Amino acid sequence: MSAQPIVTRTPEVRREERGHAFYLPEAALAAVPVLYATDDIPAEHTTIHAHYFAAWGDWYVAEFDPATGEAFGWARVGNDDWVGEWGYIDLPALESFRADRPGLPHLVERDLHFTPRIAAECLPKGRRRLRCKDEACAICTRP
Ligand SMILES: [Zn+2]
Repeated sequence: MSAQPIVTRTPEVRREERGHAFYLPEAALAAVPVLYATDDIPAEHTTIHAHYFAAWGDWYVAEFDPATGEAFGWARVGNDDWVGEWGYIDLPALESFRADRPGLPHLVERDLHFTPRIAAECLPKGRRRLRCKDEACAICTRP
């Protein structure tokens, strides 16, 4: 008997047009916790594994379900960091989305230079913070 790789992720609709893979490479993807796995970790302490961006938003992935492509993380739609929040992210929907407004970048792209680090170190500075219970926490009180 040999172990069969589990490949259940939804196919990429805009792969060719985007010019790069939307999802993380397999090894990096394997390091992303499954949905709900980081529930006990304070938000600012949570490791972010991927960053996606478009002219109109940013999405940061902390958890991922390989079977459905659903993720959990922090997202902001529009340019106001304050409106960003933690929640579920439909990655297949972002992958397949294509704006039709002329002159604007059309697709959501993955930040190919992003390296995993905690939320306090990589989310936009102007966001609302969900601090942990330690009022003196060096992570949650970062500027
Ligand atoms: Zn903290």
